[in-house]
Amino acid sequence: MKKDINSSIRQIAIYGKGGIGKSTTTQNLTAALVENGRRAMVVGCDPKADSTRLLLGGLAQRTVLDTIRSTGEDVDLPLILKEGFGGARCVESGGPEPGVGCAGRGIITSIGLLERLGAYTDDLDYVFYDVLGDVVCGGFAMPIREGKAREIYIVASGEMMALYAANNIAKGIARYAKQGGVRLGGVICNSRNVDREKDLLRAFAAELGTTLIHFVPRDNVVQRAEIHKKTVIEYKPDADQANEYRQLAKNIEENTNFVVPRPMSQERLEEILTEYGLMETSDEYTI
Ligand code: ADP
Ligand code: MG
Repeated sequence: MKKDINSSIRQIAIYGKGGIGKSTTTQNLTAALVENGRRAMVVGCDPKADSTRLLLGGLAQRTVLDTIRSTGEDVDLPLILKEGFGGARCVESGGPEPGVGCAGRGIITSIGLLERLGAYTDDLDYVFYDVLGDVVCGGFAMPIREGKAREIYIVASGEMMALYAANNIAKGIARYAKQGGVRLGGVICNSRNVDREKDLLRAFAAELGTTLIHFVPRDNVVQRAEIHKKTVIEYKPDADQANEYRQLAKNIEENTNFVVPRPMSQERLEEILTEYGLMETSDEYTI
């Protein structure tokens, strides 16, 4: 049964600077949810098309755009939607040929096709959109602009550029929130082992009007699992890091705090960074 999207499925977009850990975190979070009996789909919205490989155990996933390019829009759902760990459904929207067209358009096309093919079934509890980008703009805003994802988490760390990107993303969310029902659910810290990182991220989240939903430690077991093309949850279910992802899943399941973020000025961001010792007062940053 196809269901009215936006009804009881929690559709969640994960934003954050490139390389911050969105895909790793989203897949481990999904693995923790399905392990706990939830049903989830991950839609990769990054032309890199690596948002689902840990869930799929390295199985080559044809992207939606590649499939459309070779066979047109008349495709069978199983061609673009594969089941991975614990039955998690995996889709990669893919990107345009290098140098041609807007990468964000792939997301629009993919979500439209998934809807027409009935991918959003009644039994789903969660859909995650793993979205590239330091800013929420153009096609990359699609999941929230069109009201598909109403709930957003920003992945960040204590590094200046990650927080700068997170603040920019919050600006985009605030803009779209005025037109629709999209809300920020919180900030996820994917640690880079910066001094006083947890406190800094707490302060940063509070300044945005939200909370630090979980602090995910940096741990080499993530790389070891990645080499085996697995999430930590699958590769080492009893590792401490697996429990961190389970805790993240629990915090998201129980979250009820959804806000229109209050992005801060560059000056205020620098003030917070200075307060937590990340910037010398004499430093001058021009971006
Ligand atoms: P993004 O999707 O934001 O571009 P990725 O999820 O691909 O980022 O992560 C980039 C790299 O960082 C990955 O190769 C992954 O191994 C590593 N990584 C992510 N999170 C952690 C973590 N908590 N501990 C250790 N390494 C991590
Ligand atoms: Mg990624």
